[in-house]
Amino acid sequence: MSLVFDHITLGQRVRFAAGHAADNLAAEVDRLGAERVMVIAAPGEAALAETVTADIDVTVHHDDVAPHVPLDKADKARTVATENGIDLLVSIGGGSTTGLAKAVAMTTGLPIVAVPTTYAGSEATNVWGLTESARKTTGVDDKVLPTTVIYDATLTLSLPVELSIASGLNGMAHCIDSMWAPRADPINRALAAEGIRALAAGLPAIKHDPQDLAGREQALYGAYLSAVAFASAGSGLHHKICHVLGGAYDMPHAETHATVLPYVLALNAAAAPEAASRIAAAFGSATAVEGLNALRATLDAPRALQDYGLAEENIPEAAEKILPVVPETNPRAVSRADLEELLRAAHAGSTR
Ligand code: NAD
Repeated sequence: MSLVFDHITLGQRVRFAAGHAADNLAAEVDRLGAERVMVIAAPGEAALAETVTADIDVTVHHDDVAPHVPLDKADKARTVATENGIDLLVSIGGGSTTGLAKAVAMTTGLPIVAVPTTYAGSEATNVWGLTESARKTTGVDDKVLPTTVIYDATLTLSLPVELSIASGLNGMAHCIDSMWAPRADPINRALAAEGIRALAAGLPAIKHDPQDLAGREQALYGAYLSAVAFASAGSGLHHKICHVLGGAYDMPHAETHATVLPYVLALNAAAAPEAASRIAAAFGSATAVEGLNALRATLDAPRALQDYGLAEENIPEAAEKILPVVPETNPRAVSRADLEELLRAAHAGSTR
């Protein structure tokens, strides 16, 4: 079969070195010629931000960060940036903090240097999100893609184990769904396969010892690859299901992804033998499903949607909402009955 694809690689510098966030940030500020820096970090991330900014001059610190980027918080941060004549945004924190910096970049065109401290992966995508009156809107704009990402695994040592696992499995979902997403191609599949390998190596090490720096490095590297693969391949069936559940029933982002993933993999694997064998090879297991389930068992992963706010009586309605957004490229046809069955199993947690 001939090899034909149409792939876009997003332009971004990545500096990855444990213990070097502060000097790497100083080098980037210098390289970009920035003179008025706005640092965005949530109050819970202030100690990390202090360490990371030790070698630079900061014009203004901004800590008014909230989950899912409420529009009023975005407007406030935009005003702070404009009033202070800012020429560089530096975000230090999780996906919520990166998201606020993206909202400022979207309207001001300011460059971002992102220093992530979780495995959310927002720093490696050109996707923004904003929330107004409890409604989340997302979109794609290259202006919000951070110019540089600085990874330093020592910054993630304080991330609690449960959050690390849920957020790492969210990354795993980016990788697995990328194998059959609408714009899946040989490049993003290669990145996804390496992301699966790295996350499958890093997460058990973190579970065993949260201070294991090598495990943290693997997880962070895997999270980056997962986000690059996802931004390139787009949303597959798994992400469509989780987007509906998160939006309609206010379910937690990372835990919902972690719970739904094995059911989508079990549904699609037989219809996508090439993807399934690549996933299995990345896990080093006999089959893709066995590899994921063994990892989930080791991690004691989030298990049942009923634990995260999905009521059983909402399942038919949820299936109804998901059906029209099932990607045409999904490796097999998916009916309302298939979706109901999948949601019932995930609701009860019937696979481990
Ligand atoms: P988060 O940013 O809300 O962080 C969760 C909590 O962990 C916060 O209280 C934070 O202060 C704390 N925290 C962060 N780093 C820490 C550390 N090293 N040690 C201790 N505590 C720490 O959650 P998240 O999972 O990082 O991000 C989720 C958000 O990111 C969601 O809104 C999601 O939609 C968004 N997201 C966006 C994209 C994108 O491409 N635009 C991709 C993935 C996620």
